[in-house]
Amino acid sequence: MQKGLILRSTGSWYDVRNPDGHIFQGRLKGKFKLKGLKVTNPIAVGDIVLFEVEDKTENTAIISDIVSRKNYIIRQSVHKTAHGHILAANLDQAVLLATLAMPRTSLGFIDRFLVSAESFRIPTTIVFNKADILNDEGLEYQQEVIQLYERVGYDCLVTSATEGEGVDEFRELLHQKVTLLAGHSGVGKSSLVNAIAPDLNLRTNEVSSFANKGVHTTTFAEMFELAPDTYIIDTPGIKELGLMDTSKTEIGHYFPEMRDRMNQCRFNNCLHFNEPGCAIKEAVESEDIAESRYMSYLSMLEGGDNRR
Ligand code: GDP
Ligand code: ZN
Repeated sequence: MQKGLILRSTGSWYDVRNPDGHIFQGRLKGKFKLKGLKVTNPIAVGDIVLFEVEDKTENTAIISDIVSRKNYIIRQSVHKTAHGHILAANLDQAVLLATLAMPRTSLGFIDRFLVSAESFRIPTTIVFNKADILNDEGLEYQQEVIQLYERVGYDCLVTSATEGEGVDEFRELLHQKVTLLAGHSGVGKSSLVNAIAPDLNLRTNEVSSFANKGVHTTTFAEMFELAPDTYIIDTPGIKELGLMDTSKTEIGHYFPEMRDRMNQCRFNNCLHFNEPGCAIKEAVESEDIAESRYMSYLSMLEGGDNRR
């Protein structure tokens, strides 16, 4: 029996990497047990599993068990009652790649992503790429946006994949971590990854299929090894990242600046919408909570789609 890391999954076959770096094609043992979760896939990228080599020459393996996850992210089915789909497990952090140049990332999308990450308890850094093509006004706005998120407690980084700005810091950020790299297509995920891992020929090839450029139109996430113990996870359809079983009263807990203040609301089941004595609304009025964050909150409260 060996321990392995799941790098890739097609739903029936899994790429399992053993500690020596050898990759096997694994299948699940017939009586593999799902542990509790209502999901369609029993194991996902990032899972640590126990397996036995089945055929040495064919490189096949039989996966018999899974080691407890420290966390995972799940994509909910459109039909709320149906089972969800685990996108990835055992993440150290998420990096949300955004840009205030084209294609500009909306604050609503950033907020929605942050709320999801909070609900899965995954620390997130926001990276603002393409800083090189912002004019003075754009740079000023970028600074305001960064201040807004830093005040809430999120680390921010400015990069230009083409000019090399912030690339060392980006490499440092990922160093020896398992990172979910998220962001709309076109923001520069592949460029930034290539900027920090240019010499990894084989891997660069893999990375060129990164961000789902038609090479694999899968619903499954994929893990790339950039350096020893340094992995990034690319998930298609990140827009649909779910929330951990969230009721309306919980949404505010995933906004750190609201979480810190809501015990001062008059009612302890306050939804911070139109209740009297609401500390959150007061903080929005005094600009201690950013208007854009509050608008994102309201939109999520209504269940509206604020992701774009
Ligand atoms: P992905 O879809 O997120 O992987 O984005 P890509 O890495 O494919 O980048 C999309 C486009 O933006 C490409 O034409 C890149 O050359 C360009 N791009 C990426 N990063 C930067 C940057 O920092 N500055 C500028 N000016 N262009 C960039
Ligand atoms: Zn309130």
